[in-house]
Amino acid sequence: MSAMNIVLLGPPGSGKGTQAELMQDRLGFVHYSTGDVFRDHIKRKTSVGFEIEEYVVSGRLVPDPVVLEVVNAFLAEHAGKPIVFDGFPRTIPQAEGMDQVFSGHGLKVDMAVLIDLAEDEVVERLTARRQCRKCRKIYNLRFSPPRQEGICDECKGELFQRDDDKEQTIRDRLKVYQEQTEPLIAYYEDHWKLERIAGELGRDRVYEELKRLVGAEQE
Ligand code: AMP
Repeated sequence: MSAMNIVLLGPPGSGKGTQAELMQDRLGFVHYSTGDVFRDHIKRKTSVGFEIEEYVVSGRLVPDPVVLEVVNAFLAEHAGKPIVFDGFPRTIPQAEGMDQVFSGHGLKVDMAVLIDLAEDEVVERLTARRQCRKCRKIYNLRFSPPRQEGICDECKGELFQRDDDKEQTIRDRLKVYQEQTEPLIAYYEDHWKLERIAGELGRDRVYEELKRLVGAEQE
């Protein structure tokens, strides 16, 4: 059986990044986050970085052709490995583009998992989110604070708050999610591929559910 490709769907702050990281560490998936890739381009001041910065900082979506180009470059290197997609696709044209590119590589999306979370909980979680500048590990001041304030437990890197994790930008990102990304739920439902997990269950129980879904598919 070929390696599995999983798409994680859900509003910002639902725990997609955290779960994808666990799937990478414990289940051998490659964690692919378009958000991390874009933030890295901005940090390295590449031409893509200049092109996309205003979108990322304001919480609007990067145009589909730019996103698909970046994903294509990634797949040219990694297609065939088990991959968990975190934050991609975000629009119907991206999902269609993904299906097309995948079939070119002889691959398919095996499962989309929606991690759902209510709006108020999203805002509470995201304003408490911090990330390590060096190793990208994610903390939450409420659920999983670092041992020492502002410093990563793993690599001693500096923790920072993403510019787009400020309250007004979070509300804007949620609107973008509702308008542009939520239609993907029906898209994957129509293809018989959608599973749902309640984000309120918290990190460990969401992970157990994910592991069960992935395992069940692999048997
Ligand atoms: P994330 O880390 O997934 O929350 O993404 C942060 C920001 O990167 C988003 O608010 C968008 O500006 C941009 N971004 C990430 N993934 C995508 C995507 N698949 N399509 C368009 N924009 C994206």
